[in-house]
Amino acid sequence: MLEKAEKWMKSKIVEAKDKADFEKKLANQEGFIKANWCGELECEKSIKEATTANSRNIPFEENKGKMKDCTCIWCGKKAKVKAYFAKSY
Ligand SMILES: [Zn+2]
Repeated sequence: MLEKAEKWMKSKIVEAKDKADFEKKLANQEGFIKANWCGELECEKSIKEATTANSRNIPFEENKGKMKDCTCIWCGKKAKVKAYFAKSY
C-alpha cells in the first residue's frame, strides 16, 4: 500500500526550476510541484494569492544540510526546504 502510494507520488511530482516554470507547471496541472522554498508565511500567502496553490508537504528529512545555495523559486530569498505545492480546490 505504502509502496503504491509512493510510486503514485513520484509519478506525479515535477520539479520547478524557477518562478515561471512553477507557474506554468501549476497551470498545466502536472501534479505536485517540487520546488526550493523559503518557508516564510508571507511567501506562502503570496503564492496562494497568485496561483491558488498551497504547500502540501515539506519533507524536511530529505533537505537536511542540502539547501545551502538554494533560493526560493517564488521570492528569491534563501530557500530552507524543498516543498511540494499543489492547487487547492
Ligand atoms: Zn519565498
